[in-house]
Amino acid sequence: MSRYVYDFFEGHKDRKDLLGGKGANLAEMTRMGLPVPPGFTVTTEACREYLRTGDLPDGLFGEVEEHLRLVENRRGKSFGDPADPLLLSVRSGGKFSMPGMMETILDIGLNDHSVLGLAAHTGDAHFAWDSYRRLIQMFGKTVYDVPGEDFDAELAKARAAAGGEELGVAELEDLVNAYKKVFYAHTGRAFPQAPHEQLYLAIAAVFKSWNAERAVLYRRQERIPQDLGTAVNVMAMVFGNRGPDSGTGVAFTRDPATGRRGVYGDYLQNAQGEDVVAGVRNTISLTELATIDPVSYRQLLSIMQRLEQRYRDLCDIEFTIENGNLWMLQTRVGKRTPAAAFVIAAQLADEGVISLDEALQRVSGEQLAQLMFPHFDDAAAPAPLTTGVPASPGAAVGAVVFDSVAAAAATGPVILVRRETNPDDLPGMIAAQGVLTARGGKTSHAAVVARGMGKTCVCGAEDIHVGETVFTVNGHIVRAGDVISIDGTTGRVYSGAVPVKPSPVVRYFEGELTPHGDVLLSAVERLMIHADRKARLAVHANADTATDASRARRFGATGVGLCRTEHMFLGDRRVLVERLILAENETERDAALAALLPLQRTDFEELFAVMDGLPVTVRLLDPPLHEFLPPLEDLTARVARAEALGEDPGRDGELLIAVRRMHEANPMLGLRGVRLGLVVPGLFAMQVKAIAQAAAARVAAGGNPQPEIMVPLVGAVQELETVRLEAEAILSEVVGAPRIRVGTMIEVPRAALTAGQIALEAEFFSFGTNDLTQMTWGFSRDDVEGEFFGRYLDLGIFPASPFETLDRDGVGELVRMAVDRGRAVRPALTVGVCGEHGGDPASVRFFHESGLNYVSCSPFRVPIARLEAGRAACAAAGSDSR
Ligand code: ADP
Ligand code: MG
Ligand code: MG
Repeated sequence: MSRYVYDFFEGHKDRKDLLGGKGANLAEMTRMGLPVPPGFTVTTEACREYLRTGDLPDGLFGEVEEHLRLVENRRGKSFGDPADPLLLSVRSGGKFSMPGMMETILDIGLNDHSVLGLAAHTGDAHFAWDSYRRLIQMFGKTVYDVPGEDFDAELAKARAAAGGEELGVAELEDLVNAYKKVFYAHTGRAFPQAPHEQLYLAIAAVFKSWNAERAVLYRRQERIPQDLGTAVNVMAMVFGNRGPDSGTGVAFTRDPATGRRGVYGDYLQNAQGEDVVAGVRNTISLTELATIDPVSYRQLLSIMQRLEQRYRDLCDIEFTIENGNLWMLQTRVGKRTPAAAFVIAAQLADEGVISLDEALQRVSGEQLAQLMFPHFDDAAAPAPLTTGVPASPGAAVGAVVFDSVAAAAATGPVILVRRETNPDDLPGMIAAQGVLTARGGKTSHAAVVARGMGKTCVCGAEDIHVGETVFTVNGHIVRAGDVISIDGTTGRVYSGAVPVKPSPVVRYFEGELTPHGDVLLSAVERLMIHADRKARLAVHANADTATDASRARRFGATGVGLCRTEHMFLGDRRVLVERLILAENETERDAALAALLPLQRTDFEELFAVMDGLPVTVRLLDPPLHEFLPPLEDLTARVARAEALGEDPGRDGELLIAVRRMHEANPMLGLRGVRLGLVVPGLFAMQVKAIAQAAAARVAAGGNPQPEIMVPLVGAVQELETVRLEAEAILSEVVGAPRIRVGTMIEVPRAALTAGQIALEAEFFSFGTNDLTQMTWGFSRDDVEGEFFGRYLDLGIFPASPFETLDRDGVGELVRMAVDRGRAVRPALTVGVCGEHGGDPASVRFFHESGLNYVSCSPFRVPIARLEAGRAACAAAGSDSR
């Protein structure tokens, strides 16, 4: 038979699954010999049993009674003794802390008789009656959903009658009676007088609250499994409301906002726990406790030090002082801001508490990303209008627009405000600085699409009512054109333009700030250096221009993993591409290519100069050629207009014919990548020649260029072989060019499957995980992200968007297979990845595990990938991670 109850003496901090976080940590403190009121934990297993059957499991009662006896013995009081009652608190606490669940009920065990006993025994009738009225209120609210306002209204009435905040004993007695009536009015039963009934009703209510709507929603958002269940902690009450030598407080062993050393916290004299949170009176700073009660203060400091040593991390603490005696009521490894996470990890390493390897595990790429986004200047921010779900980080300021048309028409920055978004809003989302919605969570259309675009988004701001030309929020009216600011990191929405501060961490990476004298930057530097030292994966950048590449280099990239040459065919060069496409004979085509060659060569020379000494992987032209021509609709309209006017449409007419001819039903699966190189004579040859000539020029100038030629969209070794033979012939003709490796992208599933053949022709592989994901799943990103991804995420078909985090089971399997097959044929094969996943923390970990040589990502994400590459190496090396 399973056990459902564990005394605090029996557990420890690593049993959070069974005892919940709060219970496991209370047990740990008890084991450490700290002053914890006696108590026990009813396990999460009992909760799961309750949720399954709807009843408290058999055997639970006996176990509870048995453990209650132990508590009674230790306190020297009996539960239900009318003369000197033992009172209990019942506290929920799952493995993860969670809003929306039932909270705590204090003072369980009081009734009409024992309230008198408590008054007599303590000589404090005021305290006894105040405790009783608190019990009725908390019990009513949490066990029976009695609206808190009804109790509050009675309290306000009593205070008004008394002419002040403080109520006398007689008034408290009257208030208890009023509360009992409220209780009866809502429940149809009298407030339960039997202490055991109070206890079991409270335990069952905690279990039941696991499935409260808000709790379910929260778990879905945070991806916490729905079947864990919560534990319940039952413990002897201690009283902070026994006079000026009593009180209650919260404390942190370091500042959770900045990570700075020193003790932080708040204290409230003569009060019980819920008063601190409720803000009944103003709290005082913890340091003032040093004067009020120096003995307890010193004891608290020494306990905090011991807790930090035990947990080897920032701890937060809840405590109560009863008549000068300190009691510990809770501790846990404390939450912290991203900045504090870096500072604390570096400090703990400095202090010798943890190793640098472990310090790396205490921070994450997501946290670094948050530090790299621009932030609102909090000091200059007004009170927010409301707070929604932080769905895609960043700080966006703009004029409110309510639809895509207005967004596209706007001249300045705009924020698109919608009740919720759908695929029709896509153009508006692209045009806007940020997106704000009233409905939907982190998997809503707005959230998924905005994250995909790297656009700031706050969604599910439920206080907002969106109309046609205005939205209202908490009594404010915001009109189209009014400026608002939204913070995708905190979910806050502000009226007006809040000043945006560039990230100091980015300025540090840019070389504009030195870490000297700055705790955060020093911590970031320290951990980045260690990450680089440990990392086995190199980090390259996707950069098409010398400007991007030099930024990437400042951010620590040790190569360019993807230079997309199509970006060199845009702007005023588009006409040259048009000429190439429209060429009717070899001469015209050669002329067009010859005009493109020097332009390409200059681009490459600049890029190789910036990346001197480092590899630059140049991808031959990938997108379908019609992407370089005007859209079909534009051309049709222009030609029709010319014809209506009786004019010759000229070049437009030719282009229209070409566009019609080149139209593809599925461009993503059409004439692109290596296929272009094989059917458009001279195209790849021109690019190869430009690369080789640029490299030769750099060598002549004393440089050390390291270009590599990468062929996109290869599915069969024969494709690569053909391109490679042609390329090598050209390379051998360019005098003074260094040796240039030729490799391929692996982005078509067939390439992964036949990697063993392809590796015979490829000197390197680079996974194009965007295309590989699309083709493995058989969906195109543009078509699906807005359409059904939200639903798929909600249903748990994806744990995360496969375009954000690599799908390990499917796409990842192809990656692993291709690495194995490729290296079996060519052991020295260099393997990298150049899809967006190269900058995603979870995916970086996977690429490390799969034995890749490097990841390549956008310049901005290079530091994130470096950090994650280091973390992956340390975690794999077996250092303990949390
Ligand atoms: P939460 O998870 O919301 O913080 P807790 O279970 O920690 O809820 O309870 C909230 C507060 O109730 C505690 O911080 C503490 O001040 C008070 N409290 C809980 N148990 C006791 C107890 N046995 N004696 C005195 N106060 C208690
Ligand atoms: Mg608490
Ligand atoms: Mg691709």
